[in-house]
Amino acid sequence: MIRRRTLTRLAVLRSVFKKAFRISSVPTGINISSFHSLPVTFQLPEMKIRLIPALQDNYMYLLIDEETRQCAAVDPVEPKKILDAVKEEHVNLTTVLTTHHHWDHAGGNVELVKLFNGGKLEVYGGDDRIGALTRIVTHGETLQVGKLSIQCLFTPCHTLGHMCYFIQDEGSEQPAVFTGDTLFIGGCGRFFEGKPEQMYTALVEILGKLPANTRVFCGHEYTVANLKFAAHVEPNNIAVKQKASWAQSQRDNGLPTIPSLISEELEFNPFMRVGDPAVQSYAKSRDPIKVMGFLREEKNSFS
Ligand SMILES: [Zn+2]
Repeated sequence: MIRRRTLTRLAVLRSVFKKAFRISSVPTGINISSFHSLPVTFQLPEMKIRLIPALQDNYMYLLIDEETRQCAAVDPVEPKKILDAVKEEHVNLTTVLTTHHHWDHAGGNVELVKLFNGGKLEVYGGDDRIGALTRIVTHGETLQVGKLSIQCLFTPCHTLGHMCYFIQDEGSEQPAVFTGDTLFIGGCGRFFEGKPEQMYTALVEILGKLPANTRVFCGHEYTVANLKFAAHVEPNNIAVKQKASWAQSQRDNGLPTIPSLISEELEFNPFMRVGDPAVQSYAKSRDPIKVMGFLREEKNSFS
């Protein structure tokens, strides 16, 4: 039964992602019912990204350098699932990339290091509240996982130490970015510790200026709810409508809505569109930072 459902889901996935990423496989030997979405793998010439659903709606990732078989885990809140995936992929885990200190992202770091049995693991992040941290990284710094260069992008607001990680696949020129709880598909994280101007810098001046074909791998599966709010802000935005109906059908099939593209986010994510007249008219302001603050307040009470 699960096998047949898996095959149907795979067929849907392949048609959706064919041009973006080659879906290499649904991992074998795992109990699919223990995940909130189907775990899938995205294959590029020089790197592979394995999406591993965690908790209720979180996403962890394995980032694999195909040449050296070294890999990094992004926000490994459920370490056993990460180590199972590492074993299945026959790769060497060398690095942990932590987006921010919240427990549902960084809460597995200490256990992962312990389970790693004395092996050398670099644990990076932008905040000293992150467990098992070996080094605080800063904006613009480049980290190495095998031959992959990972650029750290400091995006404080959701928390004051939030870091995103950007990777360019040289073989295909298809970059990817891990955005944690800063940028979600169709939305953004709550401003727990920061101000609207910081989220403006993060979304518009940093993430919004990445190459248009950058794939966005975020920290939660919130897409359907985010796009309901986007449709409320911009009822006439066709891109919002199309993405919302696609996202709903993905979820109906138990499939992730990850990744999106930066170019798509610029079309349907209201928080990245604070300079657009339609979004400004909803917020009754032409000041993009005021619009950002207004949208977040509205979204906090939107249902
Ligand atoms: Zn968070």
